Amino acid sequence: MTELAPYAVGPHNTRGRVRREAPPVGRSEFQRDRDRIIHSTAFRRLEYKTQVFVNHEGDLFRTRLTHSLEVAQIARSVARNLQLNEDLTEAISLAHDLGHTPFGHAGQDALHRCMSLRGGFEHNLQSLRVVDLLEQRYAAFDGLNLCFETREGILKHCSLKNARRLGAVGARFLKRRRPSLEAQLANHADEIAYNNHDVDDGLRSGLLGIEQLAQVDIFARHMKQVLREYPKLDGRRLVHETVRRMISTLVVDLTRQTAKNIKMHAPCSVEDVRAAPPLVAHSAPILRQQKVLKQFLRHNLYQHHQVARMTNKARRIVSDLFNAFNAEPRLLPPQYYAQAQTDLTRTIADYIAGMTDRYAIREYRRLFAVEEI
Ligand code: MG
Repeated sequence: MTELAPYAVGPHNTRGRVRREAPPVGRSEFQRDRDRIIHSTAFRRLEYKTQVFVNHEGDLFRTRLTHSLEVAQIARSVARNLQLNEDLTEAISLAHDLGHTPFGHAGQDALHRCMSLRGGFEHNLQSLRVVDLLEQRYAAFDGLNLCFETREGILKHCSLKNARRLGAVGARFLKRRRPSLEAQLANHADEIAYNNHDVDDGLRSGLLGIEQLAQVDIFARHMKQVLREYPKLDGRRLVHETVRRMISTLVVDLTRQTAKNIKMHAPCSVEDVRAAPPLVAHSAPILRQQKVLKQFLRHNLYQHHQVARMTNKARRIVSDLFNAFNAEPRLLPPQYYAQAQTDLTRTIADYIAGMTDRYAIREYRRLFAVEEI
């Protein structure tokens, strides 16, 4: 590992874990966090959870697991170049989607509505809940007992109401302070990863056409560049070569602009980073181009009628499951039923949020399909 910059989170300036533990042997505190995340049940479930496409629609589409790996890859390259803590940004990247419901945003919206009387359902908060409480693998504590900086990075957004009851990890939302650069970086890497893989998956699925994408500046520019060098290239290879160059442009831009911002604000410590404006950022022209691409994806992919049909079904599955358990808690598996005695709706939300796409579909069939009796 290269030497860390003074504004990076290092082994000596971590705020530590809620439960004190002996220091790790042969690895850093943040490597230990990363390792705990990889060995968690919630992490394995990411393989069967999706963002845009439902898990069984095809073997080549991104799942939340491959998405999280791509986020970690991007975040680590930038971290190394900026002398930030690569292990920390990797741990945050791998954990950032642990609290997502099945069926991507459709599932989350449905669960949010079901939980409206309880302040809703926020997936970032749920990711924190997974690592703080829901994973049950250690003898001495619930959750994974991760370092403060990893938990802070996982809690990307949070309503002020929820921030108030979270203690130290929620304080920055109330004080309007920033998280570490490693956390800011994981956040940007997330965006770079999903914009680009959604272009790729959109084209692969046939829901987007290359002629449509040729209207989007950032895609068109890179595709032209590829075709200048390889005039005969077409099909999947043209797409891959274009997307790979787009990712590279975004990563280089993020690194350069962030380096400039760091130079300008000259933070000397993590505390300076927290008090400064967000320092991890794209340049203005790239930011504009990213916005255009996002808008394009929203209109043409996320709101595509075939996606809308699936998300509608997904919303129904989640809310029907919720309502059935809420009306008859005995339908819950025994371990959840026991838990439901203290807090029924939160237990149902935890159970549903933990489901993979295919598990939710199976559970729906088990509860509602007459032929399953
Ligand atoms: Mg993500």
